[in-house]
Amino acid sequence: MAEDKVFPEEFGFHFSQGNFGRIYRQTVKDFRLSMGEAEFVQSAENFNDGAGTFSLKRSNQLEPGIKRYQWVAEDSGRMIVTAFNNAGEIIGIQFDIYEKFDTDREVTINSYRVPFTGEWFVLWGGNDSFLNYHYSHKHQRYAYDFIKKVEGGAWAGDPEQLLSYHAFGEDVVAPRPGKVIHVIKDVEDNAPHRMNTVSPEGNCIILEHGYNEYSMLAHLREHSITVEVGDEVEWGHKIAQCGNSGASDTPHLHFHVMNGSHPYEADSIRIQFAEGREPKQGDTVKGRMRT
Ligand SMILES: [Zn+2]
Repeated sequence: MAEDKVFPEEFGFHFSQGNFGRIYRQTVKDFRLSMGEAEFVQSAENFNDGAGTFSLKRSNQLEPGIKRYQWVAEDSGRMIVTAFNNAGEIIGIQFDIYEKFDTDREVTINSYRVPFTGEWFVLWGGNDSFLNYHYSHKHQRYAYDFIKKVEGGAWAGDPEQLLSYHAFGEDVVAPRPGKVIHVIKDVEDNAPHRMNTVSPEGNCIILEHGYNEYSMLAHLREHSITVEVGDEVEWGHKIAQCGNSGASDTPHLHFHVMNGSHPYEADSIRIQFAEGREPKQGDTVKGRMRT
């Protein structure tokens, strides 16, 4: 007899009940190939032990046909993120800790604009680790990853070609006036679904803005950077193109502001946006034309 399905909104109930085998049998083949049932059940039991009740905090959709759900057990601070496809299969289950940091209360002194023109999509961005995978790392806590979407998709045509991605080659602009203090420009763009972990930021630009604030733009296209160290840039000044260099598996633009010039030593600061609204994961954001 076929088991009843675990509906996405009922995942927390079934998890708290310990129905781990049933949950496992609803995962997609790739998931089951990467983890056996006994291993999954063991880690789920460990994670559930003493966790308290998991409540659905929110859900969102980042790509067509896939919906993500955030479950949080407030007493223990544990978090589960699940992803379901349109067929009701589970494509991912992630055990995590729901952390919040006091630095959420501070924002930059300068205000910034998004570093592009036209409409982009916030793939990762916001003030917790459901919305923003950077959040658990203090050097990148309030970073954004932006992509371009056309009719709901990040690419059209052959997904193995960089040029199929709508973000690839799009203009990157200065988020506010500043001075260029660091440039890397000759890192090769990765083929889609490959990563260069030797130089994680890939081609990048660091701008100095005053009040000890520095912005960083990373994974830029090889040889697309049009500024040099020492240059002064204005609002919306075109400085590079979006690429796929460094620790980037598909073309996207990484942007964060930090309290020092060195990305591995400085801490990320929550950005005050000139437009007022702070973008978060799932939002479509429009950049202004140069003024
Ligand atoms: Zn990033």
